[in-house]
Amino acid sequence: MDKLQMKTPLVEMDGDEMTRILWQQIKEELLEPYIDLKTEYYDLGLPHREETGDQVTIDAAQANKKYGVAVKCATITPNAQRVEEYKLSQMWKSPNGTIRAILDGTVFRAPIMVKGLNPVVKNWQAPITIARHAFGDVYKAAEYKVPGPGKAELVFTASDGAETRQTIHQFDGPGVLQGQFNMEASITSFAHSCFQFALDTRQDLWFSTKDTISKQYDHTFKDIFAAVYEEDYKAKFEQTGITYFYTLIDDAVARVIRSKGGFIWACKNYDGDVMSDMVSTAFGSLAMMTSVLVSPDGNYEYEAAHGTVTQHYYRHLKGEQVSTNPMATLFAWTGALAKRGELDGLPELTAFARKLEKAAIDTIESGVMTGDLVGLWEGAAKPRKVTGLEFLRAIRERLCAPTKTEVKHL
Ligand code: NAP
Ligand code: MG
Repeated sequence: MDKLQMKTPLVEMDGDEMTRILWQQIKEELLEPYIDLKTEYYDLGLPHREETGDQVTIDAAQANKKYGVAVKCATITPNAQRVEEYKLSQMWKSPNGTIRAILDGTVFRAPIMVKGLNPVVKNWQAPITIARHAFGDVYKAAEYKVPGPGKAELVFTASDGAETRQTIHQFDGPGVLQGQFNMEASITSFAHSCFQFALDTRQDLWFSTKDTISKQYDHTFKDIFAAVYEEDYKAKFEQTGITYFYTLIDDAVARVIRSKGGFIWACKNYDGDVMSDMVSTAFGSLAMMTSVLVSPDGNYEYEAAHGTVTQHYYRHLKGEQVSTNPMATLFAWTGALAKRGELDGLPELTAFARKLEKAAIDTIESGVMTGDLVGLWEGAAKPRKVTGLEFLRAIRERLCAPTKTEVKHL
């Protein structure tokens, strides 16, 4: 079989520990045998970030902007213990944070659904994708512990010196205070990312805030989404046959639970933080989630939602056979390849990526799975626990096996 050809390279961001090992195995077992893989390689593994003074992370993000599509392996975000372990000259920042700051955008997370791994909410039949705004609000707030009686005021001083002032509360005893903000530019780019992603994936978009109570703050989010929709997306949504739906956050929560799934739920920063944990837990496991950062100017960075699975790596180093789930990392690759195929007019590349995803899902449905899934398994097939590498090889066998129609024609 001739290998599939690519036009534009994928920006490949390698990472750390157990996921770095899976990364190499995925390439060797499932990609390089079938694709003439073109990547521009950036080693974001912690030793190389240290060697380059973290410049490699910045270069990788710039390359993502240049080429449009990147695939990223999980990376260590150093803490004090890692500084010691890797003899770091400083506690480098989270690579995801650095990349997000350069690309700007919204993180979309969706579960990978498999028959036999059932969501806790039994009526959820299709994935629910959470789109989380990753800027501002309570994550950038100023806070104050009020010591005793006094007046709290909200003061804004314009750049020309003009002052507006309103009373927040007349305290008659101790209490607490918080000042949050967001910016129209960030909310607007959040809106564009969400509408664009809904179009790309042909799914309805829901958005929720608490605008009845927060008449200025949350209402601004609601208004910006409505304006961006009217101006740039209404016609495209109607053509595609998808809808945009705004509702109050409490109403949204009730509707999400009663829904069948199959839509995108855009959430403000805090709501997205909380709701994505709720939704991913109810669907099963972080190793069975896809995650992609979409920037407003159409750059994509595909990654796994979980970390570098350190505990498995330490056991692997001791020579133990570990059963680490490569699904999320594999789907980061297939997501990126499918997008590259779409952008470069290479439908065979996109089709191969989808075929690989299907082979991976079929492998689990046949009962072959990593240890994390065995306890969750409710399928008909008897589950067989395998290592990450054995799992990838089982996918490869399935990929090579002739399909039913091919067999008929033999
Ligand atoms: P983690 O790597 O996600 O692992 C936490 C636990 O979840 C594992 O010990 C394992 O449980 C289970 N798990 C996660 N992914 C799995 C998989 N693919 N297959 C099987 N089990 C899986 O989180 P962490 O231990 O808190 O963080 C480790 C490192 O990852 C840290 O240095 C952190 O900075 C980094 N991190 C990176 C990213 C990123 O780059 N996107 C995200 C989060 C964390 P059992 O041990 O019970 O089997
Ligand atoms: Mg959280």
